[in-house]
Amino acid sequence: MGFQEIIGHERELGILKGLITSGRVPHAFLFAGPDGVGKKLVARAFAAALNCESPGGNSCGLCRDCAAIEGGSHPNVMEIWPLDKPVDKKGERDPLGLIRIDQIREVQSVLRYRAERGTKVVIVNGADRFMPAAANAFLKTLEEPPGGSVIVLVSSRPADLLPTVVSRCRRINFRPLSEGAVRAYLIEKKGIAPAEAGAVARLSDGSISKAAGYIDEGWLQKRRDVVERLLSFGQNDADEALKFAEELSKRDDLEETLDFLKSWYRDRIVAFEGAPHLIANTDMQRRMKDDRVEDFNRLSSSFWAVEEALRNITPPRNGNRHLTMEALVLKLSGALLM
Ligand SMILES: [Zn+2]
Repeated sequence: MGFQEIIGHERELGILKGLITSGRVPHAFLFAGPDGVGKKLVARAFAAALNCESPGGNSCGLCRDCAAIEGGSHPNVMEIWPLDKPVDKKGERDPLGLIRIDQIREVQSVLRYRAERGTKVVIVNGADRFMPAAANAFLKTLEEPPGGSVIVLVSSRPADLLPTVVSRCRRINFRPLSEGAVRAYLIEKKGIAPAEAGAVARLSDGSISKAAGYIDEGWLQKRRDVVERLLSFGQNDADEALKFAEELSKRDDLEETLDFLKSWYRDRIVAFEGAPHLIANTDMQRRMKDDRVEDFNRLSSSFWAVEEALRNITPPRNGNRHLTMEALVLKLSGALLM
């Protein structure tokens, strides 16, 4: 992938290109910033730019070097990740894994000799997750960087890195992508309809991986279904409403669902007050119009009821999910217990 295909991060790419063209590329970098904004992609494109013959510190994305780096088969570029840790006494794996000493030995042996041409690049993903022995060995590599090589540490939790490691790196801070950039990515690269792309972009806090997660899990449809069910109950449908409450209480994504319901009522308040451009759930705008006319007080008390329910089921309260959902669904749907 060439620099030109990276979404956003113009400032960060500018810094990296400037370093390449000036011939003053430091030996070690720390790419710090939230998950899913593209740090890893930039690290790979940077590795390509250091090995591609394109002018201007760029990577063309097309030559043999660029293609091999993209395919993970270039001899100059090595990438490591934290590995699962299977040793827990209960037999549980650390889901995030750790970087181990044998991985660092491999890095050291790769960096021992200069590349015949181009620059050797090691990308360390999850660089905040070293095992202690690995961290010590790695620190030695950073202290005596082999010539003609560049190490890129990638971390979404840079505060967890050893200060001695951070101080040896040129730090590049990545910020969340703009809502517009995520939206454009979803429309252009993923073929998502504009109204849905807008809704996902607002939900995703500037993270492409978060946005992709929402789409993969069918989240857009799930939340539409929740609203349709909730609006389908009349005064006499208490039984149905209680059944729905029970279903909700068993959902793994109950907290996200309640977060969504808050945004739904917030949207309706915003629409009610005549500011439809501020609506987050843009794909459901039509539904808001079709919905029966509500008054402000009812919308507002619905919003706060969802907020209260969310607090009730999460720490420190950890209240009964089933009872909480029953009270909430009855209140929101207006169904009456006879
Ligand atoms: Zn190239």
